[in-house]
Amino acid sequence: MNPVSFDFSLEFARAMDQQDPLRQFREKFYIPERNGNPVLYFCGNSLGLQPRTTGSYIGRHLEKWAEKGVEGHFDGPLPWVDARKPSRPILADLLGAHPDEVVAMNSLSVNLHLLMVSFYRPKGKKFKILTEAGAFPSDQYILASQVQFHGYSPEEAIIELVPRPGEQLLRTSEIIEQIHKHQDELALVMMSGVQYYTGQFFDLQAISGAASRYGIKVGFDLAHAIGNVPLSLHDWGVDFASWCSYKYLNSGPGNVSGIFVHQKHGSNKDIPRFAGWWGHNEKRRFLMEKGFDAMPGADGWLLSNDPVLGLAAHQASLDIFAAAGMEKIRAKSELLTAYLEFVIRKTIGNPEEFTLITPSKPSERGCQLSLFLHQGGREKFELWTAQGLVADWRNPNVIRLAPVPLYNSFEDIYAFGKLMQLSQGDSR
Ligand SMILES: *Cc1c(COP(=O)(O)O)cnc(C)c1O
Repeated sequence: MNPVSFDFSLEFARAMDQQDPLRQFREKFYIPERNGNPVLYFCGNSLGLQPRTTGSYIGRHLEKWAEKGVEGHFDGPLPWVDARKPSRPILADLLGAHPDEVVAMNSLSVNLHLLMVSFYRPKGKKFKILTEAGAFPSDQYILASQVQFHGYSPEEAIIELVPRPGEQLLRTSEIIEQIHKHQDELALVMMSGVQYYTGQFFDLQAISGAASRYGIKVGFDLAHAIGNVPLSLHDWGVDFASWCSYKYLNSGPGNVSGIFVHQKHGSNKDIPRFAGWWGHNEKRRFLMEKGFDAMPGADGWLLSNDPVLGLAAHQASLDIFAAAGMEKIRAKSELLTAYLEFVIRKTIGNPEEFTLITPSKPSERGCQLSLFLHQGGREKFELWTAQGLVADWRNPNVIRLAPVPLYNSFEDIYAFGKLMQLSQGDSR
């Protein structure tokens, strides 16, 4: 699609949908309904919608379990011992990683702890962690409890990056400056990839480059980034990362997470880690021997045997990503979010009523826009919700709207614009 000049009309939105190379993907998902009508679902940043194929992917394993019992571990076209493997190349693609650098396992908060065991190694003066202020609460608890585990207090060991007074976003130059300033004290830089509240997509390449220059480890929480924005973790030299699969990856509530460990660490068996049998040399795993022998790559951090049913749901969605292609997804996403921004500015009218916290530059955001409403935010949100909007409210006054390119349409955004007009008491 070419750059376009937007228009707030049903005809325009439908014409955009007509030209959309991904338009047929919407039909691959169940769109929830209210009163017999599909809702306006802008909440894929919280829980992605269910692919229509998910049930049959899981069903195959349920049938096999019923028919074969324990033999299913080694039998059939999808032996359970290998359940995680088909996800690997697709995850690698989404992350810009080599296949051996990624593996699906556990859940996100668990994985961040495991990765910090290996990559947060405070020593002498170098014991601090740099992170963004206002990080997702689980991440705050993880960092605080990790530094406490090593005998430090969060106050002394965690440096939080705060936007300049009057600003909502962190400037890359400021992040780099802080890394430079604290180079002798930092053991780790750990931030989100896309900030859950503001929607800011940090310059991970610049952050990773700056940290590596001073020998500081760098890790990212990609919960809001994977499947949303383009990533090149290997080339950026990122040490480690983790994410969840139930947001943009549409894998279902609470489903499996994954880790990235850069190749520069993957073959180093001496890196301290918490080990389990699934991370042990695959060829000797069932010999039940004494003495852990880490598998090369990210697999060396595996602990437990694979959650087969969850991985089946995960695969159903990843196969859709593979069919659509991240480049097309991102191209549509940029247009869709730009159209949402256009429609918000057009329909809310008075710029004193709202602030768009999320950056306006497409390279600095994913699909989410965080809309700060100065007055009557909660009432508007409730009115819109009653009219079929599914979005997300964050105190004090922020609505997060995430039009997801795989299943949202330009017409959805037009319909949201009509809702916003409703709350203006105006029917232009
Ligand atoms: C969604 C999210 C989480 C959730 O963690 P779980 O362990 O999957 O419950 C953690 N961190 C960030 C940044 C998130 O966006």
